[in-house]
Amino acid sequence: MRCLVLSDIHANLAALEAVLKDAKRRRLSYDMVWCLGDVVGYGPDPNACIELLRTVPHVCLAGNHDWAVLGKLELTAFHENAMIVALWTREQLTAENLNYLRARSARELQERYLLAHASPREPIWEYILDTGVAAENFEHLPDGYALVGHTHVPVIFAQDRASGDVRASVPPLGVPISLDPGFRYILNPGGVGQPRDGDPRAAYALLDTEKHTWTQYRAEYPIHLTQAKMRAAGLPDTLIDRLSYGR
Ligand code: ZN
Repeated sequence: MRCLVLSDIHANLAALEAVLKDAKRRRLSYDMVWCLGDVVGYGPDPNACIELLRTVPHVCLAGNHDWAVLGKLELTAFHENAMIVALWTREQLTAENLNYLRARSARELQERYLLAHASPREPIWEYILDTGVAAENFEHLPDGYALVGHTHVPVIFAQDRASGDVRASVPPLGVPISLDPGFRYILNPGGVGQPRDGDPRAAYALLDTEKHTWTQYRAEYPIHLTQAKMRAAGLPDTLIDRLSYGR
């Protein structure tokens, strides 16, 4: 199966549309979209993003922002700006889309891949930012493969099954990386709607579960469109500005 792996759309419709268009332009064929959560929060188009996602065959998890909007997490655990937008999003979402978010699970096994928004052991909150935290999480993989988002930074953590050593690498763009059976992997496609690795383009990846390859892509999108909608909705300036820098 070929899966388009997306995470952290964050109600950024222009970015989500650009990713789907970019995949089409590159003639990437895929059977499913696997979305690793945080469809909403931060951005101006929560309903439209859920509705666009629902037009393609997909699996979608819940992220911390989705839970915050649903009232399943204490908002006090959030930065003030994130909290402001979570409350705004709660007002915007239709009953149907709230129900859609409510039905998402935090962690799900698809084929040999454990899908989790944040980390395999703490699917809602934990950030896997270094090889130490990745090493602890490799203990929690049933079959040695996990897909996570949450950090909004594309990265591959690979653990040598024999030595236990873990290394991190940033995948080159457009080059299929072969997943070596001698390693376990935690793969993060980066963020669609609010990248944080200094590259403002929307990030996504293609996973081929038969060929065992992972390919990272970036798609340019009209950032100013999203920013103008955020301004019109009165969303916080810091969140508007950061989209320009990918931070
Ligand atoms: Zn996020």
